[in-house]
Amino acid sequence: MASADVPPTEGCEAKMRLGVQVSIAGSLDRAVDRAINLGCTTMQIFARNPRIWHVQALSPEIVSLFRDKRQRVDISPAVIHTPYLVNLASFDEALFEKSIEALVEDIRRADALGIEYVVTHIGSARGHSLQKGMAMVSSALDRILTATEDSGVALLLENIAGHGQLIGGRIGHIGQLIRDAGNPPRLGCCLDTCHAFACGYELRTKAALDHLQNEIEREIGLERLKVIHLNDCKGVLGSRLDRHEHIGEGHIGLGGFATLLNHSLFDGLPWILETPKKSDMDDHRNLATILELLSGVVVIKP
Ligand SMILES: [Zn+2]
Repeated sequence: MASADVPPTEGCEAKMRLGVQVSIAGSLDRAVDRAINLGCTTMQIFARNPRIWHVQALSPEIVSLFRDKRQRVDISPAVIHTPYLVNLASFDEALFEKSIEALVEDIRRADALGIEYVVTHIGSARGHSLQKGMAMVSSALDRILTATEDSGVALLLENIAGHGQLIGGRIGHIGQLIRDAGNPPRLGCCLDTCHAFACGYELRTKAALDHLQNEIEREIGLERLKVIHLNDCKGVLGSRLDRHEHIGEGHIGLGGFATLLNHSLFDGLPWILETPKKSDMDDHRNLATILELLSGVVVIKP
């Protein structure tokens, strides 16, 4: 919480950690080079190809290169995002089992690489009730946390845009899953601004953000909110469209970001962009927009 005599921008900037999702093309340690080149102070990676189940063993050489490179720079925390294929609510047994294996593997990779957080989408209970799907997720989380109980890595459940039978659109879903798991310290939340907005959470006014902050405090506890995915949204409020947009060019807009970046809900947390990327220039531009908004360089026209 910013104190009353400190302008919110200064307080926010001082504690701010800003980064992007960086590619691991070539080799995992190259992701650190890319983050350094972009001036990131936090970063997110896929720890393997996110579109296939098959995973190659991590070589000790790559692990030590990754650790060495990161040790030399101030990039913290680092985050692994689990593969797109994961569905912890699936009633297809093979898919359910592969999803659990993938999460356990990514947590072990995070341990090996010295990465603090693993972020995952939860899944969809296609063809089944939300409650039955939630029960599947609870059993999956129980198995994942038990299989990795010697790990110091926290598993963060990400809110999603919330169409169909997808679990995790509402903050309450994530809260219930954490409570059902017995409130383990290693279970937390990652809030994606595009997904929240698409799911119907207004983010463009202080009053709405106060409301969301209260909901997170009540349902999850603010201390469990560990990472922010900072994305603008191609769709309108409540569109349920999971389409990320460049910062300021979507329906959250520059004005919306100017408001939310200065809200205490986001204060002191790592901000990671997952905005569209044709080249590194897109990341440079989006990072610059965030810094300009924080410094007040961008004048917001009503
Ligand atoms: Zn995200």
